[in-house]
Amino acid sequence: MALEARICPKCGSKGLVPIEADEKCFCGGTKIVFNVTKDEYIKMSDYERNQMIEEMDIHPLISDDDAYLIYNVTHSTEIIDAMIELKQKDIIEYGLKLSQFKNQLEQKHQINQKENNQVRCPRCGSTNITAGQRGYSLLTGFVGSGSTVNRCASCGHKWKP
Ligand SMILES: [Zn+2]
Ligand SMILES: [Zn+2]
Repeated sequence: MALEARICPKCGSKGLVPIEADEKCFCGGTKIVFNVTKDEYIKMSDYERNQMIEEMDIHPLISDDDAYLIYNVTHSTEIIDAMIELKQKDIIEYGLKLSQFKNQLEQKHQINQKENNQVRCPRCGSTNITAGQRGYSLLTGFVGSGSTVNRCASCGHKWKP
């Protein structure tokens, strides 16, 4: 697979991508190809890369970390644009908003973790589990007598918990 080095002039995210990859960045920007080969790019230090970016007169409007964070929470390039505008107008307000996004992302992770503690189908990973036997409670496990069988509503897999 042939790779080339690209940078997004909007958020500054950079790296090697397949030549046929979409030139659109997640942030809505359009990536630019670096004027170096893949091998040259790999050998360059961060300092050299940043120098190259300056020589190309590229000045990202937002840091890629910030842009990733905003996109992760909102999935909206419009909000990234609004945040870029806010950063230029009011850097303090920008910082406050950014920390709100951070909190939201943390909450999202916590919800994901909760979901991870649910009973999952060992075959397909679905949490859509029904009990195959009476007396089984999803919350407390089996509460009756006899054998317990879980059944996955997604793929039909049955197993003993
Ligand atoms: Zn970008
Ligand atoms: Zn399943």
